[in-house]
Amino acid sequence: MTSAILIIYTGGTIGMKQDPVDGALRPFDFSQIQEEVPELKKFAVRIDSYTFDPLIDSSDVEPSLWTRLAGLIRNRYDEYDGFVILHGTDTMAYSASALSFMLEGLAKPVIFTGSQLPIGVPRTDGKENLISAVEIAAAKDADGHPMVPEVSICFDARLLRGNRTSKLSAEEFHAFRSINFPALAEAGVNIRYNRRVIRCPADWEQPLTVHTQLDTRVSILKIHPGITPEVMRIFLCAPEIRAVIIETYGSGNAISKPWFIDIIREAGALGKILLNVTQCNSGSVNMDLYATGKSLKEAGVVSGYDSTTEAALGKLFVLMGLSDDNAWVKTQLQEDLCGEISK
Ligand code: ASP
Repeated sequence: MTSAILIIYTGGTIGMKQDPVDGALRPFDFSQIQEEVPELKKFAVRIDSYTFDPLIDSSDVEPSLWTRLAGLIRNRYDEYDGFVILHGTDTMAYSASALSFMLEGLAKPVIFTGSQLPIGVPRTDGKENLISAVEIAAAKDADGHPMVPEVSICFDARLLRGNRTSKLSAEEFHAFRSINFPALAEAGVNIRYNRRVIRCPADWEQPLTVHTQLDTRVSILKIHPGITPEVMRIFLCAPEIRAVIIETYGSGNAISKPWFIDIIREAGALGKILLNVTQCNSGSVNMDLYATGKSLKEAGVVSGYDSTTEAALGKLFVLMGLSDDNAWVKTQLQEDLCGEISK
């Protein structure tokens, strides 16, 4: 039986072309993408498409888009063997991270891809990215199970776990990195799957549970030399904030001045969920290492381990949407829910 793949087109550079009037890049429709990639017809795969209206630059992505994407996947889940999502690169890592937590029990590939150059441009990276994404989405193992039943990002010949990935280059084709976790697959002459690290469901028949209730009351504070108590208070103590992702230095260290830890305690006393992720691209938070980390831990700050900020945000949105109980959310934050942290 031939595989069936649904390509969901949300927008992004991959499907943009230059407006002859002002030279700006604007989205064009999916049939034009297909015309640019006739290779797709060579696969023994049925490819259907769904186009979002309006198409957006991913800088405009909001959680409501994730809810629509997750709902679409739920509604079409039984019809397709896999899903390829064409998405702008700017917020792709956020969307892939959020979807990984929203699609609990996923047993099929959901692969995000896009490009740095529009698909109509001769040197585009979009063709290669799209072709590899479709091939991987349709790939099955000897038992007929999908090779990569995860939310992932396919870019520049690599398949990366969505919630481990960040966009690190605005210019190179090698735009996305998953520094704390190995690639799920690499596309060379053959596509080499790293089966050792690909997550598979314990039960392939388990139902997909889609979490679309998101609580977005989160702020992200990147600490920096010169940060003031006033700024800290805005990020940590504002009444509309339920959780704060604190991007700390190195292995989870922060300012040791008494005013800093006092504001952390104040936020803790207000019931805020405080999550520590590192500003470093690689490595993990370890609050037991230095005195400054220890005082954060004592003040109730929870470790994000080696989580990306993008993953931390999606995880918080979903967990807080599931429960009003902050103690439960804090416990879950420290669990590896879908491959997003190593402990
Ligand atoms: N601004 C574009 C977007 O994220 C960039 C891209 O697709 O690469 O939609």
